[in-house]
Amino acid sequence: MTSTTESPAPGAGHAVAGLAAVTARARELLPDRAVISERSRLRTYECDGLAHYRVTPGLVVLPEDATQLAGVVRACAEHGVPYVARGSGTGLSGGALPHADGVLVVTSQMRTITSLRPEDQRAVVEPGVINLDVTRAATPHGYYYAPDPSSQQICSIGGNVAENSGGAHCLKYGFTTNHVLGADFVTAEGDVVRLGDAAPDSPGYDLLGAVVGSEGTLGVVTSTTVRLVRLPEEVRTLLVGFESTDQAGAATSAIISAGIVPAAIEMMDALAIEAAEAAVHCDYPAGAGAVLVIELDGALIEVEQEYADVERLCAENGAFEQRVATDPAERALIWKGRKSAFAAVGRISPDYIVQDGVIPRTALPEVLARIAELSSTSGVRVANVFHAGDGNLHPLVLFDDAVEGEADAAEEVSGAILDLCIEHGGSITGEHGVGMDKAKFMPRMYDEADLDTMQMVRCAFDPDGIANPGKVFPTPRLCGEVPGRHKGAHPLQESGLAEVF
Ligand SMILES: Cc1cc2nc3c(=O)[nH]c(=O)nc-3n(C[C@H](O)[C@H](O)[C@H](O)COP(=O)(O)OP(=O)(O)OC[C@H]3O[C@@H](n4cnc5c(N)ncnc54)[C@H](O)[C@@H]3O)c2cc1C
Repeated sequence: MTSTTESPAPGAGHAVAGLAAVTARARELLPDRAVISERSRLRTYECDGLAHYRVTPGLVVLPEDATQLAGVVRACAEHGVPYVARGSGTGLSGGALPHADGVLVVTSQMRTITSLRPEDQRAVVEPGVINLDVTRAATPHGYYYAPDPSSQQICSIGGNVAENSGGAHCLKYGFTTNHVLGADFVTAEGDVVRLGDAAPDSPGYDLLGAVVGSEGTLGVVTSTTVRLVRLPEEVRTLLVGFESTDQAGAATSAIISAGIVPAAIEMMDALAIEAAEAAVHCDYPAGAGAVLVIELDGALIEVEQEYADVERLCAENGAFEQRVATDPAERALIWKGRKSAFAAVGRISPDYIVQDGVIPRTALPEVLARIAELSSTSGVRVANVFHAGDGNLHPLVLFDDAVEGEADAAEEVSGAILDLCIEHGGSITGEHGVGMDKAKFMPRMYDEADLDTMQMVRCAFDPDGIANPGKVFPTPRLCGEVPGRHKGAHPLQESGLAEVF
């Protein structure tokens, strides 16, 4: 299943010359240690978290500040060389997959928290700063950074912004986009601009909103102003065992319908529990067909009331065991089972696809039943782990690459799950992004006119198409082309009031 590109495509003489020019410029701008062109070292960067796609980059640069980064991007623009931004490379959709004749701009040397201002609940961070390090810095002041992808110990804030990353606690606190107030941004031409502000709202178009979740296709974020959230007075973490995912899903709906918004409600099915037990011995309820990890936080008096209600609602929906963590170690063990679930699946299967789709929460029972059907008719095992409160599914589709045909069967089931999400009014990605992997699914969700409109936004930011080309959109067009149905000149063009990029 691994696909590897080792060298530039035939006839790529122009690209080779362009890359040589950018390499020379990067050596002028950056220290020697920050410019990597030896093949053996370049291979370190050939994939992100989606490791079955691999491309050795033409050049890797590790800028130490925004000026160096902008200089390299400007050189790329001058010579028409594609570039890809990379934070920690934990992405699961191939978004940071390099180009063989392009530059990989890695932000791991830009890890300074430039300002921490608990008094106005803000921090300003460089793009390579690790997500959890923001919380570590803010905690002594009584604050934390709320978006918490399960990869938070290693993923970067720049990557989080580009993917609009979520996490277990986004049910109550919102995704990255709700916590980013401003950003410094290097355009595809290599100019440094500021988007948004520390103030709550800026007039004009929400360009920051366009950049959050744009997966590196509009430019590179070099600094982000993020919101800090006050640490709650009380946190209560429950582990609840059910006989089936149907019961656990019904309990989730009952909790939300009762007007309770827990900080998190996570579900794992029997196969996912088996994997987590094998990997981290998390001591989840024996014989459970599903578990919920429910976290309540806030003022003590409020949490106590919610806790009583949640316990009752779970019991009414069939819970056979309920435990509440009594100390931080127990809380950590409950979360360890959930947060290690992806990697843990390696204990029960040599290979697996981490799928990511989203559906309205009410469709959970129907979609889970259809996934079970797909699994039994195809013989492909599927473990389910998900942010139940958000309806964000992470089916883990298991296969053995060494067995002929298993990888293809797994791919088929994985794609059929996305079709199910679309059919039920959901989306092909909840939080892992489209990247390279899911670009082919975009036309299943959007028609030509929608895709053309998105392409025009991209062209407005990146007219030459050098910022992470080949990602997100299935059939990139040149920006000079008038896309799709919009043939002929627009009346605004004819009147001289507008131009097509
Ligand atoms: C075990 C595991 C668990 C995970 N759990 C979650 C989860 O719970 N929730 C979730 O949302 N994701 C999760 N992820 C996916 C991944 O960690 C997130 O997408 C994360 O935000 C990627 O950050 P990164 O620094 O690794 O980015 P990378 O993988 O390096 O890059 C991701 C994308 O961002 C772009 N990019 C990176 N830096 C910049 C920048 N400075 N400016 C512009 N574009 C940039 C890249 O070009 C690429 O398109 C998980 C991954 C793993 C391996």
